[in-house]
Amino acid sequence: MKTDLQIEARRIASVNPATGEILREVECAGEVEVASAVAAAKTAQVGWADAGLRRRIEIVREFQARLFARKSEIAAAITREAGKPVAEALVTEVLVVLDAARFLIENAWKLLRDEPVPHGNLVTKLKSGWLVREPHGVIGIISPWNYPFSIPATETLAALVAGNAVVLKPSELTPLVALELAALLYDAGIPKDVFQVVIGEGPAGAALLQSPIDKLVFTGSVTTGKRIAAAAAEKLLPVVLELGGKDPMLVLDDADVDVASTAAVWGAFVNAGQACLSVERCYVHRSLYEAFACACAEKTKKLRVGNGMDPHTDVGPMIQEGQVRIVESHVDDAKARGARILAGGARLPELGPNFYAPTVLADVTHDMRIMREETFGPVLPMMACDDDDEAVRLANDSEYGLAASVWTLDARRGKRLARRIHAGTVMVNDVVSCFGISEAPHGGVKASGVGRTHGRFGLEEMVRVKYLDMDRMPGMKKVWWHGYGESFRRQMEGFLEMQFARGMGTRVRGALRAAGIVRKKTL
Ligand code: NAD
Repeated sequence: MKTDLQIEARRIASVNPATGEILREVECAGEVEVASAVAAAKTAQVGWADAGLRRRIEIVREFQARLFARKSEIAAAITREAGKPVAEALVTEVLVVLDAARFLIENAWKLLRDEPVPHGNLVTKLKSGWLVREPHGVIGIISPWNYPFSIPATETLAALVAGNAVVLKPSELTPLVALELAALLYDAGIPKDVFQVVIGEGPAGAALLQSPIDKLVFTGSVTTGKRIAAAAAEKLLPVVLELGGKDPMLVLDDADVDVASTAAVWGAFVNAGQACLSVERCYVHRSLYEAFACACAEKTKKLRVGNGMDPHTDVGPMIQEGQVRIVESHVDDAKARGARILAGGARLPELGPNFYAPTVLADVTHDMRIMREETFGPVLPMMACDDDDEAVRLANDSEYGLAASVWTLDARRGKRLARRIHAGTVMVNDVVSCFGISEAPHGGVKASGVGRTHGRFGLEEMVRVKYLDMDRMPGMKKVWWHGYGESFRRQMEGFLEMQFARGMGTRVRGALRAAGIVRKKTL
């Protein structure tokens, strides 16, 4: 009998979203192929972990060199399959991955090596402790189509350097970019079974989730993320969920209108608005509102929309027609409820079925879908607000919490407001670029997800922490072992008194320090 997870072996066509051309057909993995990829990864992971951190860092360095050598080729492959302008593919994908490799080369050693744990409790002073970071085993990665290279590559590099094997299920819309990533990794020296790509639609992802992987890093929509979280809970499988966003941009009354409007236009239309960190809501102080809206409209009308392979293109196609339909329905709903269209507002059929004109909407409200649901397309909706408190209240009035930005010339005010916004990242005077800061953790709060990728915290997700405890007096019995009695109880009371009675602990610690019995650092 066929189970839910069984998938017919079949082929998927990778399509150029700008032209409709079929780039290549690839074989889909069924449940059996997914299971055997994971089994092979499990076996290979042991040798990979044994190869040692220095060797793994060397391979990341080699990968970086090979990617650098092939940067233009990889960028073109991304543009052909995902549509974004080739310059954007270079900056937001290739550069991000080169720098993520740089981060690991420079930091993996100090972040992953054993870390001593000094003990503060006097009872445990005769023990040494270490944090030992161990790989989980096999990490499953399920990734979306919008950043088909930088998302799986940054996650994969972190997983591999930590000693895990990886089985990647890329989006069915961008399988060829994933195969480019695999080729680069194999050329750099990653054993074939240590990194594998299984291609397919949702069911291939579900099969990966049901296989004996040790952790799953999922990037995609909230709807799929919730499904994954429910299935993972059944297995107690640890997961990282990088989900959708509805990022607000707060333009305060002292912002530079020219700079902020250029940022809003780039932040809303980069990758044709198909970025989890896109500016999806804009709240502008009433004193700047009209000037800001006009500036955004003017700049938007100058954007050149077309095939991303043309070096002059600013905005490429959307990934597929279904995505255009979502944008269209959000804009139509806003229009029907009274929003003003200052630029765009329609498809561009003369360019092809996947093109939608970059659109600026003014006078939107929180009753409109455009301000509540993730649009994931080239729309910049804005509304006026009267003060900082109202801007923060509106920014926080969302089920999402991925990132946000605050625009002000007053750094202290910006920082103060940033702390009040519910989001994984808040940028003061910039948008979107936090994804490219390799040191910065990436991830959301509320429906935008759980866990982090990138930087130190992203690397920590790829390891299990084991606490290793070593008693330095193996010949000595512990005072707290059996054999209790009234005198022991009194001794213990006295000990607690000595350590924790207000002022006493400090005096005892001072005396011990003065006598050189304990070091200052651990007190
Ligand atoms: P999606 O949820 O439709 O698909 C994501 C991946 O999950 C794909 O590989 C897909 O095949 C797979 N999948 C689908 N159903 C599955 C199932 N039942 N079990 C397992 N896997 C399944 O998302 P998408 O349309 O590819 O990507 C767009 C979404 O991703 C947007 O919501 C966007 O905000 C979000 N995103 C988030 C981040 C982030 O870092 N937070 C980054 C990029 C994109």
